[in-house]
Amino acid sequence: MTDHPALSATYPIARAAFRAAADAAGATVHTFEHPLRGPEGESLGIDVAELGPRDAATVVLVVSATHGVEGYCGSALQTQWLTHHAGERPHQVRLVNIHALNPYGMAWVRRVNEDNVDLNRNFVDWSQPAPSNADYDGIADLVVPAEWTADEQQRTLEALLALVAEWGFPKVQAVVSGGQYAHPKGVFYGGTEPVWSHRWLRQWCADNLGDAQRVIIVDLHTGLGPWGHGELIASAAPGEPMFDRAAALWPDAKSMLAGDSVSATLAGDWLNIADQLAPHAEVTPICIEYGTVDGITVLQSLRADAWLHGHGDPTGPQAAAVRAQVRAAFADDDPAWIAACWPRFLEVLSAALHG
Ligand SMILES: [Zn+2]
Repeated sequence: MTDHPALSATYPIARAAFRAAADAAGATVHTFEHPLRGPEGESLGIDVAELGPRDAATVVLVVSATHGVEGYCGSALQTQWLTHHAGERPHQVRLVNIHALNPYGMAWVRRVNEDNVDLNRNFVDWSQPAPSNADYDGIADLVVPAEWTADEQQRTLEALLALVAEWGFPKVQAVVSGGQYAHPKGVFYGGTEPVWSHRWLRQWCADNLGDAQRVIIVDLHTGLGPWGHGELIASAAPGEPMFDRAAALWPDAKSMLAGDSVSATLAGDWLNIADQLAPHAEVTPICIEYGTVDGITVLQSLRADAWLHGHGDPTGPQAAAVRAQVRAAFADDDPAWIAACWPRFLEVLSAALHG
């Protein structure tokens, strides 16, 4: 077998490949069932594959599908590593691969979860009022219209492109993708309370990270930046210990707060509260963001997806085309793309395991 990951066509195929690779690597696998089902009636769940001593001082967590559809890439990278590189792991380190943190989104080929919630807008402080986004309120009906006819797509896209011309792309990106909490059928919606995957993650970490002194987290994403390029993005600001530790492990890590990253600054991403997940440990989180297609194409796929699930029929005749559009925006099925993503993952995980 060659050392190239391969994207799976569906969630059940990806899940089976991951579990087989974890078994072959000698990992202990625990499954946490999700209450809902996938588009073919398949069961859904988070699979956790662990290698190394339970009481290890250093724990490395690799997480796929925080944004469901982005998990096709993350799953392929996890599976490939378990198949061909598990033997290179330092034996005193505990390596935990969390497969499909948002299994519903991965199975249904959506970035969001079963509540149309973006998991990385859901980790806000729910004891406080949700953040407001007045600029999004003003364009919500334009971003996700009630009708998705060819005429409506053209009209609303032209209006959004006019907004890009007026506001500039960075502001439109910030308004649309920064997070909103008032439009449950909209895009980048953060929800009204901690969602299933959020609650699971907090509980799993509370149950499993008590002995750790150091926790390094690699969260795998796609959809921003140049094709096949993996940018390392930290949620913390330069000067904060979480950022400085990340920059020591991975010298080209960027902060989303420094203005030079491909990501807009956003509220509610889970890496930003990662230190709460293991309060006795030194936590060092990083996201790898792999580029696919341009930002407008990505946004068009998310608008179509939000319309399908908010106003259309996710099991109806238009569903397959929308799912194919979302898949293409977040996982390029040209084998050269996942091959281009692979070396960066190896390098990042190697630094995490040996650094
Ligand atoms: Zn993502």
